[in-house]
Amino acid sequence: MKLATKLIHAGIEPDPSTGAIMTPIYQTSTYVQEAPGKNKGYEYARSQNPTRKVLENALAAIENGTHGLCFSSGVAATDAVIKLLEPGNEVIAGNDMYGGTYRLFTKVFEKFGIKFHFIDMQDPENIRRFINSQTKLIWIETPTNPLLNIVDISAVSAIAREFSILTCVDNTFASPFLQTPLDLGADIVLHSATKYLGGHSDVIHGCLVLRDDALREKLYFIQKSCGAVPGPQDCFLVLRGLKTLHVRMERHCQNGEKIAHFLRNHPKVGKVFWCGFEDHPGFAVASKQMRGFGGMMSFTLKDDSVETAMKLLSSTRVFSLAESLGGVESLINHPATMTHASIPREERIKNGLGDSLIRLSIGIEDAGDLMDDLNQAIG
Ligand SMILES: *Cc1c(COP(=O)(O)O)cnc(C)c1O
Repeated sequence: MKLATKLIHAGIEPDPSTGAIMTPIYQTSTYVQEAPGKNKGYEYARSQNPTRKVLENALAAIENGTHGLCFSSGVAATDAVIKLLEPGNEVIAGNDMYGGTYRLFTKVFEKFGIKFHFIDMQDPENIRRFINSQTKLIWIETPTNPLLNIVDISAVSAIAREFSILTCVDNTFASPFLQTPLDLGADIVLHSATKYLGGHSDVIHGCLVLRDDALREKLYFIQKSCGAVPGPQDCFLVLRGLKTLHVRMERHCQNGEKIAHFLRNHPKVGKVFWCGFEDHPGFAVASKQMRGFGGMMSFTLKDDSVETAMKLLSSTRVFSLAESLGGVESLINHPATMTHASIPREERIKNGLGDSLIRLSIGIEDAGDLMDDLNQAIG
């Protein structure tokens, strides 16, 4: 089955008790058992919930995996992956990543004795220098947030496999419409379903998708033991969002391309970071591993002052000034003070994330209206 059909049908069966075509929201904490230990596969809702189960199966299908696991947020999904590790273990991660992931790694898990290396992964060979016998996980985010760098998932996964190191790809920016990391050799795919999968800025949700049965058992044990599970209503909202992912992504890509070129040709705009430009250093890899370039981009102004950037950020009328991304509405964001404020300034600047960088999540509105809005805000 092709993605468009899977998004609408995979994992979904009419409700067995009524035939309801839409998966019901099973708002229950427990399930009545016929006799002790004799049940219908559902005992307690932290461990199993039918609405969540349908979503987990749908997510597994669209990422070309076999197992899905849902969490109460994207960072809860990340948390579960790191809990596979033990004190003394090491993780290699990119040096341009979601600020909340960086915060979780450095502020929560470092104190439990896990060591993180944040490195430039644009050259996969760079990774070898950081591998030792304690390296157990490589954390890949591509395209990166907010600089839209590209990491070669096949190349990094191949190196990881040589040393039996797990790879986890945060696929939030691309969504399975643009990129399916399990097909490229990764072990685990992670989503903040809060973003493109949900797509309507109305839910916080996260998930993991994988193929290996033993790894699924370990992660399921962590999911039920630690308890960061989503409620059934949130699962329903993500299921509903999934059904239009392909249609939304097509428009995100079309609008993204138009706006990236508009910005690049604007006399007052400095650098534009978007992985669909042919002169982008990751363009060849992006063209190989992605089916489009998406609607995420960032840029600076020629007048590279923080004040001018701040003025622009408060002057848009169609773009809303907000954290998050991947919804139908266009958002504008200032990474240095918003999404990436948890990364120390020195570290940020070293990795190319300056104080005047502006990030856009291009929505599915009329592209002309979006360009007019940016034009008037740039002034
Ligand atoms: C938002 C985001 C997360 C965290 O997800 P939440 O649902 O907010 O917990 C992780 N990775 C990326 C790339 C994100 O954009």
